[in-house]
Amino acid sequence: MPLVQFPQALAPHQIESIAKRLFWLLPAVLALVFVAMMALWAEFNDAQSRKVYQETLLADALSVEAQLTARQDMEKVRLKDVASRLPLGAKDPVASLALMPEVVAGLDRLWNRLVWLDDNNQVIARAERKAPISANSSDELRIQSTGQADHYVAPLQDTQGFNRGKLLARFDITDLLRSTDLVWLNRRYEVNFVSELGQVIATTASAARPPLGTGYEKPLAGFKDTTLRLTPFDAPESWRQHPKTLALLGGLLLLGMAASALTRHEMRLVARANAQTQTEIAWRQAMEDSAFVGLRARDADGRILYVNKTLCDMVGYSRAELVGLMPPLPFWPPDAVDDLMARNLKTLAGYTPTTGFETRWRHRDGHLVDVMIFESRLVNARGTHIGWMGSIIDISERKRLEERDRQHGETLAQHARLNDMGLLASELSHELNQPLTTILSYSAGLNMSLKQLPGVDPDDLVAINEIVRHAGKAGEIVNWIRRQASRSEPVRKQCDLNAIITDVLQLRKRHIQQAHAKLVTDLSLHGADVIADRIGIEQVISNLVRNAADAVNGQSGRGIIGIATKVLGGSEGGKKSIEVAVRDNGPGLQGRTIDMLCTTFYSTKSDGMGLGLGICRTIVESHGGNLFAEEALGGGAQFRFTLPLVTPSAP
Ligand code: ADP
Repeated sequence: MPLVQFPQALAPHQIESIAKRLFWLLPAVLALVFVAMMALWAEFNDAQSRKVYQETLLADALSVEAQLTARQDMEKVRLKDVASRLPLGAKDPVASLALMPEVVAGLDRLWNRLVWLDDNNQVIARAERKAPISANSSDELRIQSTGQADHYVAPLQDTQGFNRGKLLARFDITDLLRSTDLVWLNRRYEVNFVSELGQVIATTASAARPPLGTGYEKPLAGFKDTTLRLTPFDAPESWRQHPKTLALLGGLLLLGMAASALTRHEMRLVARANAQTQTEIAWRQAMEDSAFVGLRARDADGRILYVNKTLCDMVGYSRAELVGLMPPLPFWPPDAVDDLMARNLKTLAGYTPTTGFETRWRHRDGHLVDVMIFESRLVNARGTHIGWMGSIIDISERKRLEERDRQHGETLAQHARLNDMGLLASELSHELNQPLTTILSYSAGLNMSLKQLPGVDPDDLVAINEIVRHAGKAGEIVNWIRRQASRSEPVRKQCDLNAIITDVLQLRKRHIQQAHAKLVTDLSLHGADVIADRIGIEQVISNLVRNAADAVNGQSGRGIIGIATKVLGGSEGGKKSIEVAVRDNGPGLQGRTIDMLCTTFYSTKSDGMGLGLGICRTIVESHGGNLFAEEALGGGAQFRFTLPLVTPSAP
């Protein structure tokens, strides 16, 4: 009984060839074929025996016929001999005939009467046998009917060759048969001589020894109306009449059938066990393949012996590709091969943390997979340590979530810092506003006082004017920051972009000079008016120029900073916009995108805050424009931003 009843769907569907399914029939079929061949062979033997038997019968009949014919021929010759010796002119022919020794011998042997006829068929003399002839060796031949007689005739001729009559010897056929040696025949056959009327003349038939076979009849040549019938005592036996042979073949057939029945029984048991095993394998395979955990068995040298489907899916290699591999494995990231090799050696040496260890594999398609590996000892049925069984869990998703949480935390921290900075900026702008206003009013007062004094150096007046201008600008920026921080509505007015750029370049003059950069402007655009928050746009341009100056500062060649404005679009009824481009010949963006550069606190500078570009993009986009960053033609970086153009017809 199986320990577990497996679902039918998991039971393997066995498709076997008919030959395999009927294999159990083989012993019975072989036995049947063997018995059939034996029977055929015996039948063939029987046919051969019957043929030989018939041939022997025929030959024996012919022998009898030949023997009797020879005997007759001999008697005829002897009669002729008597005829040639007969004294034709004898005075007492009767005495002469009776005294002839050949005649006496012939009468003793076979003849029962000898008649001498002259040429007119008148009897001259005759001699007769007195006593019946004695039986010879064929005495088993019993005479059934007598009277069947025959005769031989020999012509008589004188010395001149004239016909002088004839000599006629009469004899009983039964005497001929009795006096012929047929003993050899008696042993094998019941011998019958039959007359034309079907009457048995002579026979060896005996009730004690009945014949078996079918009789064979042959008319005897030279015998008047006599037929020889031979009936054998022993007919050839068919194999079918041998009970032992039949029992042997039947037993063989039974043995074959018994062997088949046994084989069938065994085959059923094996098939059932096989199906059970296959079902268990399919069941186990299904469980392993549907497992969330990747499984890997290795031998003591680290050679992979087995992997389940989950592990194959994890690394993108098939089972056939992985089984048999030794470290380094194809899914180890190239830059971590040394570490993983060292870790592998530690594992094989038995140092495996029970809590598992984290590592990173590389899927065949190149993406990295974070995995947690738990190694345990693999022991065989005798308890011998033969390798390692690894359970591998894909923790990439967990890692991704952790990373997302970490980034989310960082973003929150950034926002908190930004918030703090916003508060600080608001506080500072509030604190700075008072001293800046004081500087501005004292400078203005000083300027007016100096103008009324005679002999004042005009350069002093210029300097005081600059103080007033810069203090005014600082005041505007501080107010702008306060407005930004307090989220009050931005103040947007129509303003000339060229004028804004000129002002900014004036303010950034020292910065550009410190960077030893050459300024190239292309502000040929006239009437480039935009509706904008002037201070905000000034901050954008100022930041882009400062970054360009920082980029070219300290490099070997002469730094160049270019600023250009141009009108875009409007050709097909679309809205026109103004584009401002700030270009430098510094190191360039080196593959970094605008999104990366605008990330809050992203900075490559030792004193940078990483806020500038992000604020610039916010200001530009709040005006309905876009900020772009790209590699400049001929090297360096180019930052561009657009603003909607105020057309002359616009209110
Ligand atoms: P900060 O200037 O404080 O670093 P920004 O947001 O203005 O912050 O700039 C972010 C980063 O963008 C800079 O640190 C610098 O790496 C890069 N960057 C900005 N402008 C350029 C430029 N013209 N050429 C090369 N890199 C630049």
